[in-house]
Amino acid sequence: MRTPFYFSRNNAASPLAAVGTFNLAEISTYDLASISCFLVDGKSASEAIDNIGAIRQHDNPLIYLKPIVLIGNMNTLIKTVEENVDHSASVEQFSPEYLDNLSASFETINQWIDAIPDVATVSDSSSRFKTLRLMASRDLKITPYYTVEHHNGFNYPKLKPLFAKKDNSIERTLEFLEQQQLITAKLKRRAHFCPHCDCAFLNFKETCPDCQSDNIETDELIHHFKCGHTDSAAKFKHFNKMQCPKCDNDLKHIGVDYDKPSTFHECNECSHTFQDPRVLADCYNCHRTMEPDNLDLRDINEYEVSALGKNAAIFGLDALFTSILSTDLNLYAQDEFKNFLAVERSRIKRYKLSQSSIALIHLGNLESLFETLGKKAEQVFKELSVVFKSVFRESDVISARNESVFCVLMTETSETNANLAISRLSASVDDLFKTNSNIDLLISSAIYNVVEFDSLEDQLDLFLAEKSSL
Ligand SMILES: [Zn+2]
Ligand SMILES: [Zn+2]
Ligand SMILES: [Zn+2]
Repeated sequence: MRTPFYFSRNNAASPLAAVGTFNLAEISTYDLASISCFLVDGKSASEAIDNIGAIRQHDNPLIYLKPIVLIGNMNTLIKTVEENVDHSASVEQFSPEYLDNLSASFETINQWIDAIPDVATVSDSSSRFKTLRLMASRDLKITPYYTVEHHNGFNYPKLKPLFAKKDNSIERTLEFLEQQQLITAKLKRRAHFCPHCDCAFLNFKETCPDCQSDNIETDELIHHFKCGHTDSAAKFKHFNKMQCPKCDNDLKHIGVDYDKPSTFHECNECSHTFQDPRVLADCYNCHRTMEPDNLDLRDINEYEVSALGKNAAIFGLDALFTSILSTDLNLYAQDEFKNFLAVERSRIKRYKLSQSSIALIHLGNLESLFETLGKKAEQVFKELSVVFKSVFRESDVISARNESVFCVLMTETSETNANLAISRLSASVDDLFKTNSNIDLLISSAIYNVVEFDSLEDQLDLFLAEKSSL
């Protein structure tokens, strides 16, 4: 059973007797997987924000993905801080049952975290990936929160603590993830922003086209049917009735005696009269005045993790290729591969009739390719998978050590022929990337005779070490 911990950066005592203190400075002394959630003190908003930031900006998924509960007095908890965390509660509520229920309610999130491969050793430094993982771990729909506290007028409070800087990184991160089709967007509001400072607080005003003063008055034009006279409504006003200034007849019924063909404006500063005022926008932040056409018009979206994103959040962005590859090729687990290898080695040694080879292949830059290719990544990875399929044979045994290192047992293939096959693979991959992008996939490989290939682990380590020393 996982239990909550009181999060502190200076080893402060927990206000709850039943809850131990988690001191971030002594992180290695805790069994992180056994922590159900972090309780953060909400007494001081700024301290709470610092602590929530320290958790979410950590690079260990067992820390930054952990559920956070803000504790304090319900009346004093600050709404904007509450929006940043998973849950909030009063100190008085914390009975032993409440703590157990709290831990149970976070079990789904904690099991999601447990499923991350190598979760105990992995560290996530990319804020894009952390954003995706935070959203996927909670199946979180990220909705904009409209606020005057942020100069662009809205925020995504659940994601805010992931980012140290108060700039537009959250928006840029979400745009990136959407381009990669890892999250999907739904329009919530379309809004205008200052093109100079991104401020959403703008005053739209009607001004005089001649002198730009906003001291203008609006009046209606009146057209008298009987005599054809047209003038401003003010000129027709005669005590408490309307009378034509030209022919002195009374105007009683609109549509019968007269109509109002249009409105017009008069500037109180320069007396200019005009039909269409000039609309301008004042920025409350940088104090510039500009034409509405020059403002930034942007969509404010709500975001959800896509099916592709859910997979990438667990296995990593570059694991996408492995998952595509495994639909085209039969990828064996490392243990199965070792069994095949042992059998093949004894067979060759015993009959001495033919040769078999081992190829180790490393794809150097899948993640940066993924970022460069964007939406096209999935298609390119599919084509890459077809290339792999065309080079290797049904009888070859392929295994992926991780998303970018592959081991291939090429049966009945001499080292010379294995080298030819790998050259064909490199040439086809070069062709593929020439037509798809201006960057290359970096492939390194090594070929071994199966009888001289002893331990898969040792050879792989040696191969990866030699490759990185190049
Ligand atoms: Zn004017
Ligand atoms: Zn008249
Ligand atoms: Zn501005």
